[in-house]
Amino acid sequence: MLKLSEIIGNGVAIRILRSALTQNKPASAYLFAGPPGVGKRTTAYAFAMALLCEKGGDDACGVCGQCRKVMVGSHPDLTYVEPIVRDRKVKQEIDIESIREIIRKLSFRPYEGKRKILIIDQVEKMNLVASNAFLKTLEEPPGDTVIILTTENMSSLLLTILSRLQKVRFMPLKFEEILRFATERAGLHGEQAEAYAALSKGAPGMMSENAIEKEKETRSFALALLGERDAKWDADIMKMADKIDRSKEKALVYKVLESFVELLADLVKVKTKGKCDSLMNKDIVDELFSISPRFSRRKLLRAWDVSSELVRTRRWNINPFLIISLLALELKR
Ligand SMILES: [Zn+2]
Repeated sequence: MLKLSEIIGNGVAIRILRSALTQNKPASAYLFAGPPGVGKRTTAYAFAMALLCEKGGDDACGVCGQCRKVMVGSHPDLTYVEPIVRDRKVKQEIDIESIREIIRKLSFRPYEGKRKILIIDQVEKMNLVASNAFLKTLEEPPGDTVIILTTENMSSLLLTILSRLQKVRFMPLKFEEILRFATERAGLHGEQAEAYAALSKGAPGMMSENAIEKEKETRSFALALLGERDAKWDADIMKMADKIDRSKEKALVYKVLESFVELLADLVKVKTKGKCDSLMNKDIVDELFSISPRFSRRKLLRAWDVSSELVRTRRWNINPFLIISLLALELKR
């Protein structure tokens, strides 16, 4: 478990929290909002540890009895709740039973800490009945309690709940930050670290080996579309279409499309400026330079226009794969 000072990225969010700690005036309820995998839960735990630390100050000491209990997950005043699948239901949610349990726990005074902490992860998955019950807790929070909610989808929360929360925004990490993460936390070096940094798109929490392999595969599909057109290209595209089709994963088509859009944007940059410091696919810069002479800037821009519009509108009723293939063919005319 990390301390606030050890968290890489999201400097603004961390500063807000450390300043509340310095003044010893935490809000009674926070909402950590941002995309998946950028450190909301990690930060929630780090903040909780600092709030419970015996030493006080703007960060946890990491060595006192209270900190240790948070680290090993045995602190009686820290409650963590996440969406679960209950009984024979299929959907993951935070239901009324979880909320009743929370309300019961919060009704006691802190056992040994200075305060009680409640972390609810992915609060957007709280169902309506549970939300209404939880609202009462937010309206009259038990004294000495700090509630930390995390969400990937702030717009789906009830306004009555939103209005009672101090919002802290989390953003994807910058390339340099994620590179540092890849080196320091994931133990990667050189090219490997750069590939990780480029493919994780600022979300180290999504950086499992599997996730990265999938991203690589998605990008290789998108790259294939930009390949030289010959008989082999036609066959490869057919094979790829078949594979995507068989995967039954409709989102995969969009991921390929997204990756395609990013590659086009990079190619435009390479073509216009011949520079490579702000590329999204920094790890394959040589490949980008070798692809770019194949297309005119005008063609790249038009393809980018059309495909980014498709990504933006997410029109599921059309076959996006067909569109990508057409775009690829168009690029080659
Ligand atoms: Zn401590």
